[in-house]
Amino acid sequence: MFSTAFLDLPALQGASGTVTLPGSKSISNRVLLLSALCEGTTVVHDLLDSDDTRVMLAALRQLGCGVDVAGTTVTITGLGGRAWPAEAIEFFMGNAGTAMRPLTAALAVQGGDFTLKGVPRMHERPIGDLVDALRELGCAIDYLGNEGYPPLRVRQPTLRLDKPIPVRGDVSSQFLTALLMALPLAAQDRAINIEVVGELISKPYIEITLNLLARYGIAVERHGWKRFVIPAGSRYQSPGSIHVEADASSASYFIALGAIAQGDGIRIHGVGADSIQGDIRFMDAAAQMGAKITSGPNWLEIQRGAWPLKGVTLDCNHIPDAAMTLAVMALYADGPTTLRNIASWRVKETDRIAAMAIESRKLGATVEEGPDWITIHPLPTGKWQRASIHTYDDHRVAMCFSLAAFNADQVPVRIEDPKCVAKTFPDYFEALFSVATTEATHIPVICIDGPTASGKGTLASRVATQLGYHYLDSGALYRVTAHAALQAGLTLEAADERKIADLARQLPVHFEGEQVLLGGMDVTDAIRSEQGGMNASKVSVLPAVREALVQLQHSFRRLPGLLADGRDMGTVIFPNAPLKVFLTASAAQRAERRHKQLISKGFSANIDSLRADLEARDARDMSRSVAPLKPAQDALQLDNSSLTIEASVEQVMVWWQSRQVFG
Ligand code: C5P
Repeated sequence: MFSTAFLDLPALQGASGTVTLPGSKSISNRVLLLSALCEGTTVVHDLLDSDDTRVMLAALRQLGCGVDVAGTTVTITGLGGRAWPAEAIEFFMGNAGTAMRPLTAALAVQGGDFTLKGVPRMHERPIGDLVDALRELGCAIDYLGNEGYPPLRVRQPTLRLDKPIPVRGDVSSQFLTALLMALPLAAQDRAINIEVVGELISKPYIEITLNLLARYGIAVERHGWKRFVIPAGSRYQSPGSIHVEADASSASYFIALGAIAQGDGIRIHGVGADSIQGDIRFMDAAAQMGAKITSGPNWLEIQRGAWPLKGVTLDCNHIPDAAMTLAVMALYADGPTTLRNIASWRVKETDRIAAMAIESRKLGATVEEGPDWITIHPLPTGKWQRASIHTYDDHRVAMCFSLAAFNADQVPVRIEDPKCVAKTFPDYFEALFSVATTEATHIPVICIDGPTASGKGTLASRVATQLGYHYLDSGALYRVTAHAALQAGLTLEAADERKIADLARQLPVHFEGEQVLLGGMDVTDAIRSEQGGMNASKVSVLPAVREALVQLQHSFRRLPGLLADGRDMGTVIFPNAPLKVFLTASAAQRAERRHKQLISKGFSANIDSLRADLEARDARDMSRSVAPLKPAQDALQLDNSSLTIEASVEQVMVWWQSRQVFG
């Protein structure tokens, strides 16, 4: 997951390959609650690991459910047939609507002393219609803040189940879902009627609920979309084990990707055209805009069809979440696209109509909006602007706008707060980068060159962390090469140059965090010694060895970007890098830092001899005939003798931001 403040997406060009999608949020949280209400144990496979499911799991633990997490398989031991907690419990629901609504209903019907709170945005999301319905049947619920909104306090109900229970259907279908899942708890000796008031929106989500209830032994009778009956004697029964389908809303981004990007197409695993999720109908909308889609059991394949895409006018009531993706596809269309009947967007994680309009305009688009509709005009070549997309703590805004990086003007797109995707798809950007392609020259590289012990490594890896970029420690490659050469019985002299170069070309080196593995063996300590540095310096003067390592170093230039540290990153390996820093510090400072470092690792060391070694190594690195250590002509010099690491990082970030201006 990218937990950086922002993520810059370079201009992207094509996409091909396979993605496996995480489990559906809607199905995951329903299945968790249903499993918790059963008697006995349910093994849930392919559960989504996200903020929303974590909120639900935490609440279930608080209630006393058995919860055993092993990767994406979670075993739930339900509360059915057991006593519910008598003590007061406070639940923190974050911004997880799919946990808040059904849990409120279940707790209110069951009764106890429960408080449900969330983040500030959760306290702005209406819940009054659900509370009204629950009060109608005798539940005791108080508002602790504003009338109609969380936080809530729930107490012992006095249930009255003889009359039909009215619930509004035109604000959020989650209210009806919540009642449908909670009321079987009270249907032991009488049938319970629920009546929908107003036009029911998002019907497909109700279908998911009914489908899953059936899997858990509750056969709800549906009379049109107006009346639902939970039969007398209904009792939750565990299905034993259950698989969660991949999220059809998450699939929308990759369906759109296949329709937008050039390439061999995208294959999606985990969900197919026969999915029980309503958002799978996004397929039809995408096809109408031009996507070529084929499907089989649990898979989809998408290719670019019509190009540019075709502008459409569409009622999106049946695909409220996935429809946001159409709004970004619309930028690539041949005419305007109007999405209608999307009033529910206004009460989601954020006001999504406003968010999509504001952020699309930042890219240069013309957008009109109304209370329940939005029109997006295509954005022609030559008109795309660099934009920093605000994401409103809304995962879908972040994922949608990543698709803007495929614009023909090849302008990069900045996504603010990329970690908000964790709500449903923590590794969304990793999945995107695993299939997206672009020319290497579009992928930014920041070079940090400088002498030994100047602090390049720390600086480069910290900046890489702040930007979410990859990190290349090129010195380690020379160190590993020298290590491998010695192990193979070679000398580090010119006489063995060819053989060392052959080794270097095939170097089976892997970086895992701070660890360096050579052919699977941990060689970190061996290569990090002072001797290791000297040995590296010896092999690094051999031209054939340097040449042999070029390709390996270039292979680190991957999406979304690279921080490379060494001696010749800016001069030889990445001469076109958009930012080059030459880092220096006085020899005295560097010797002192290295001394501290060694002592802290428990090695004995002598400052004077360290300094002599450093200077000898610098002298060799500067005087060699190939790729000598020297600042690139366009490098910015940074003397960090009297700077903290934080100050150096800040300086590089300032330089970088001044070259990456997002409007
Ligand atoms: O940066 P580090 O101290 O790990 O580098 C070890 C040695 O590898 C350097 O002294 C230098 O001789 C060599 N090197 C190089 N070119 C690079 C990185 C390191 O020649 N890009």
